[in-house]
Amino acid sequence: MAQLSDDCFAFGGPMMSVDEAVALICERLHTITGSQTIPLVEADGRILCGDLLAGIPLPPFNNSAVDGFAVRAADLGSGVTRMPVAGRIEAGASVNITRDNSAIRIFTGAPVPSGFDTVFMQEDVTIGSDEFVELPAGLKPGANVRPAGEDIEKSSIAIKSGSRLTPSHVALAAALGRTDLTVARKLKVAVFSTGNELVSPGENQSPPQVYDSNRFMLMALLRRLGCNVSDLGILRDDRAVLARALARAAEDHDFILTSGGVSTGDADHVKGAVEDAGKLTFWRMAIKPGRPVAMGMISGTPFVGLPGNPVASFVTQAYVVRPAVLALMGALPAPLMALPVRAAFSYKKKAGRREFARAKLRRAPDGVVEAVKFPREGAGLLSSLVETDGLVELREDITRVEPGESVGFIPYSSLY
Ligand code: AMP
Ligand code: MG
Repeated sequence: MAQLSDDCFAFGGPMMSVDEAVALICERLHTITGSQTIPLVEADGRILCGDLLAGIPLPPFNNSAVDGFAVRAADLGSGVTRMPVAGRIEAGASVNITRDNSAIRIFTGAPVPSGFDTVFMQEDVTIGSDEFVELPAGLKPGANVRPAGEDIEKSSIAIKSGSRLTPSHVALAAALGRTDLTVARKLKVAVFSTGNELVSPGENQSPPQVYDSNRFMLMALLRRLGCNVSDLGILRDDRAVLARALARAAEDHDFILTSGGVSTGDADHVKGAVEDAGKLTFWRMAIKPGRPVAMGMISGTPFVGLPGNPVASFVTQAYVVRPAVLALMGALPAPLMALPVRAAFSYKKKAGRREFARAKLRRAPDGVVEAVKFPREGAGLLSSLVETDGLVELREDITRVEPGESVGFIPYSSLY
C-alpha cells in the first residue's frame, strides 16, 4: 500500500481556515486504495479507477430523434415539397433505402439511412392517402437527426478517472456496453467514540450517561462515501487505553476516525494518545460549530479526531473527513458548493471564522427560496440536524446577515 508521510497534516499557522484545511487535505493525501473490478450494477457510489474510454460512439449510428419522415435536404424545394413515401423504418430495423426525391417513414431511434440527413416531425407534415407526403418549407437541414457520436465520440474519455459514480455514470457505461467497471477498493475505516459518559444503544443508560450517537452518524456518513466501516465501539478517557486501541486499529485499517476528547480539557486524552501511538497535528480550525480537530498519522495510517458535540462532529466531518476519504480513494476533488438562497433570519458573527447555521428551506409567497434558521444554537442538538435541510455557509468576511439578503446554502444531501 502506498504510504503517506508522517508530516502530511503539518500546518504552520495558529488558526486554519476551512479553505486551507480542504486544500491541504487535497494536496497532501493521495490514493492509497488499490482497485477492483465489479459488476456494473454494483458500481453506483464507487470511484472509477482509470479513464473509461468509449469503445463505440454514442449514439452508435445516425438515428431519428422523432417519429416522422426522413429526407435528403437537397431534394427539398423552396416551398412545400410533395414526395412519395419510399419505405418505412422502425427502431431496431436495419433497412437501407436509397432512393432520390422520396421520403421515408421513420420512427424515433430508427437508423437514418445513409444519404438521408433531415427528419420532419409527423405533426408538421400532411400525409396523403396516396403514399405521398407534403413537407412544409423552412426546416433546417440536419433537423431531428441524432448523428453518430454526437454524445460521445469513439475512443474519447467517457468517464474520467476519479469520478464518483452516480446512476448517470452507470447509464453511460451501460450505453457503451460495459458489464463491469474498475473502481477503487473501498477504504477500510475504523470508527471509535471516546468518552466515559457514553454507552451504546442497547445498554442501560441512566444519568450521568448518554447514548453514543456520533459513532452511528459517522459510520452512516462513511458508508455513504463508499467506505467499509469497522465499528470499534467506545473508548474510555484514558490515554494509554486510547493509544493502544489506535495502534491496533492502524494495523488493519486505511483510516481511523474518532470523536470526542480533542479539546484542551483535562479529560481530553485523544491528542496525547495520538502522540504516543504516532504523530499528532492539532488543527485549530476557524469554524463554528467545530474548531478543534486532531489530525495525525499512526504507523502510516491517517487519523482524524473530531470534536464530540454531535453538530460540531457533523460539520467538521464535511470539511475534513469527506475530502480526506475521497482523496484516499482517488476521487477527483468535489468541493462543496453553496447555492444562493434568501435569508429569512438575522445573524451576527465574528469576522475571520466560517460559521454554519442549520436551516430549513421554504418557498416564500413571491416564489423565492428562503432559508429559515433553526431557532436554537446548541452544538449538541440533534433535532436541529433532523429538522433542517442543510447548512447556511457564512464565510469569514461576513459579520452580519439581515433578512432578505442572499446567503449560500449547502444541502445535506451534497455532504455525503
Ligand atoms: P468532548 O469533545 O469529548 O469534550 O465532548 C463534547 C460533548 O459532546 C459532550 O457533551 C459529550 O458528552 C458529547 N459527546 C462526545 N462524544 C459523543 C458521542 N459519541 N455521542 C454523543 N455525544 C457525544
Ligand atoms: Mg469527552
